[in-house]
Amino acid sequence: NRQITLAARPNGEPKPSDFKLVESVIPTISEGQVLLRTVYLSLDPYMRGRMSDAESYADPVAINGVMVGGSVCRVEQTLNDNFKQGDWVVAFGGWQDYCVSDGVDLLKLPAQLAQKSYALGILGMPGLTAYMGLMDIGQPQKGETVVVAAATGAVGSLVGQIAKLNGCHVVGIAGGAEKCDYAVKELGFDSCIDHKSADLNEALKQACPNGIDVYFENVGGAVFDAVLPLLNTKARVPLCGLISQYNATSLPDGPDRMGALMGRLLVKRIKMQGFIVFDDYGHRYSEFSDAMSNWLQTGQIKYKEHLVQGLGNSPEAFIGLLKGENFGKLVVQVGEA
Ligand code: NDP
Repeated sequence: NRQITLAARPNGEPKPSDFKLVESVIPTISEGQVLLRTVYLSLDPYMRGRMSDAESYADPVAINGVMVGGSVCRVEQTLNDNFKQGDWVVAFGGWQDYCVSDGVDLLKLPAQLAQKSYALGILGMPGLTAYMGLMDIGQPQKGETVVVAAATGAVGSLVGQIAKLNGCHVVGIAGGAEKCDYAVKELGFDSCIDHKSADLNEALKQACPNGIDVYFENVGGAVFDAVLPLLNTKARVPLCGLISQYNATSLPDGPDRMGALMGRLLVKRIKMQGFIVFDDYGHRYSEFSDAMSNWLQTGQIKYKEHLVQGLGNSPEAFIGLLKGENFGKLVVQVGEA
């Protein structure tokens, strides 16, 4: 049983030596349990937080503990009447070949789901995040302008497409021309701005002639600086993630802008609300799943996966995710289907 453990807590950007590949015996199960074999492992930005022992909404991974993560697995052995050998399930199995579950935390996947890995993306955690953050907090109205950063990623690509289905003017922000082209030509965004270009502020202003009504925040930093002056009165900001800060070791240089930010929120009566997807919206999974499955089946929403082969490549792929090296939802194929 290959496992990837946390060897050291990163200082800034994670390094390959912060992870360690170890071999252990395949666990045995007792009454009520199932043995799961990982087929797909989801790599997600929140894992950077789990590598740190700073205070957060979830406990950190222990040093020498197996890295946590969502996975799509097959039931290899079962002593639980609710599962048969060969069943497909979504588990929180972590970065390893095998894990044991008592079944309570498992979600069975329908046999007819053609792409089982989609349960880690469009039909799973990132999909629920995009749908609920946008619809419940963002409350987009027809004709409004919605801006989303990390626009071709797991969450952002779905936010923009759902906003289009709601009749909004959608502007993405992404890293590089290839991603921006994809957002417009494939995902149907009205425009997409490259955050690496020198004129981000001006380009965003041009793309949003009526200001911004909903800004779905995935990134923070320089992107938020460009967005803030364009937010309209009564704008909504679902505060989903701040990936530009996850590797930061100190506050950015410069004057303290907290007063200016709060002044802007006050005068423009902007609503900014953070959320943690399963804590806040786990109970609404079926509502989301019905809507998203329908959009996927009818071709109204497109989805791109970035598939990496082999558990051993997970650290490198994860380090790249924090730097924009993924193009689409990052998933590792750990084992054969
Ligand atoms: P993505 O698939 O979007 O991958 C991350 C992307 O972030 C990169 O590809 C890169 O895209 C972008 N990025 C990285 N660094 C920067 C930077 N400095 N400036 C601008 N963009 C950057 O990841 P997810 O869709 O899984 O996650 C998106 C966000 O949503 C993250 O912040 C994550 O933490 C958050 N999230 C929050 C949840 C919650 O419950 N609140 C649940 C799930 C996700 P590019 O090349 O385009 O810059």
